[in-house]
Amino acid sequence: MNTPDVGANAAAETLSEETVDALARAQGHHAPAEPQPHPHEALLSARAANIKQSAVRDVFEISMQPGLVSLAGGNPYLQSLPLNHLADTAAQIIAEHGLEALQYGGGQGTLELRTQICEVMAAEGIHDARPENVVITAGSQSAQDVAAKVFCDPGDVILLEDPTYVGALNTFEAYEVDVQAVAGDEHGLIPSALRAKIASLKAAGKTIKLLYTIPNFNNPSGVMLAPERRQEIVDICREANILVLEDNPYGLLKFDGVLPAPLRAANPDDVLYLGSFSKIFAPGLRIGWALVPEHLLQRYYLASEAVTLCPPTFNQLLVSDYLRNYDWMGQIRTYRSLYEERCAALLAALEEFMPEGVSWTRPEGGFFVWLTLPEGIDSYPLLYKGIDAGVVFVPGAAFTATEGPSNKLRLAYSAVPPESLREGVKRLAPVLAEAIAGAA
Ligand code: PMP
Repeated sequence: MNTPDVGANAAAETLSEETVDALARAQGHHAPAEPQPHPHEALLSARAANIKQSAVRDVFEISMQPGLVSLAGGNPYLQSLPLNHLADTAAQIIAEHGLEALQYGGGQGTLELRTQICEVMAAEGIHDARPENVVITAGSQSAQDVAAKVFCDPGDVILLEDPTYVGALNTFEAYEVDVQAVAGDEHGLIPSALRAKIASLKAAGKTIKLLYTIPNFNNPSGVMLAPERRQEIVDICREANILVLEDNPYGLLKFDGVLPAPLRAANPDDVLYLGSFSKIFAPGLRIGWALVPEHLLQRYYLASEAVTLCPPTFNQLLVSDYLRNYDWMGQIRTYRSLYEERCAALLAALEEFMPEGVSWTRPEGGFFVWLTLPEGIDSYPLLYKGIDAGVVFVPGAAFTATEGPSNKLRLAYSAVPPESLREGVKRLAPVLAEAIAGAA
């Protein structure tokens, strides 16, 4: 295992495209000045016009400054992977299976990897998955995109948590979907609120297609859906003929390893399940998957094939070798204790430094802690003040479909060593304290 990086270049390593998107969405809520339109603007689809402009490159550049602590990027900590072993494997795949590895493959993905994915899903709590029902995708991001494409016409409703994953919001909005938030609390979605929301939307003549949910360690809130609410939520959706789109990239990263059953576990026909190797192995390989109910498989698979022809063959072979020849569950146990330690360090620093009036979630797994500031304080302008103080975070407006300022913000602990987490929070605290004092 390599030694953890400390401080200085944490920002440069951890501000991913996703983070930039999140920052851009947050900025979108603050209506940046419109540039002069080029005549080609008239050629754009309404769909493309819905995709938020990434006007936040300035912040991105600034946040690359050495010495800044980035609590913004939700990147996995790849330094603990067996990089030398992977380098040998990659060379061996090209040398011994180059003609397969560099060739087109089947649209659904290789049978070996689909079979192994069923073993990964068994570890996640799904025991009846069959390789025939797995479609390998370019990350679970593309699996979400395919789901929106297959099920949603413009104006259709997707129900979701508030806050929710910025990449999903971007995808759904690109399909001109009407995203509607369902109320939740520290135990996740509230079944009675789901029932009420469905009733009011149906009364208003809306067509609801999907419930998109991240039941385990929601990005950004870190919240886990209580086990006792899970079946009720699926039952409510089944009664209303709404398909559940369950996104579970962090499920295996529950610190204590005692995993609640996924929504999909006992509901093979009612849940389209999305998984990913991005958080448990390597996001750069872009390998995720969908476990699709039998009756929807062909539609889903054909739509996926229409986007990518086939998932990347070389990357699939690399993931297969990793699962076959490496103690991947041991690696997940390493990750669990690593992230648990970091989460604890972040929570301890928040206890130590945060001013009165700030509250936060206490995750049992995943990558994120979600802070709530007193009502009326907009976290977006504090981003720039934070950068001046040497710390970056993502303002809450990035993660909500609701317009207007947000008094929330996301802190990611996954890629930052404990001592830098403490330093980041120490720098953030006076910025928040000043904002709170100014609002009083
Ligand atoms: N879903 C959630 C909740 C995520 O946080 C992310 C990535 N941050 C994704 C999906 C996309 O992951 P992938 O790399 O598999 O596309």
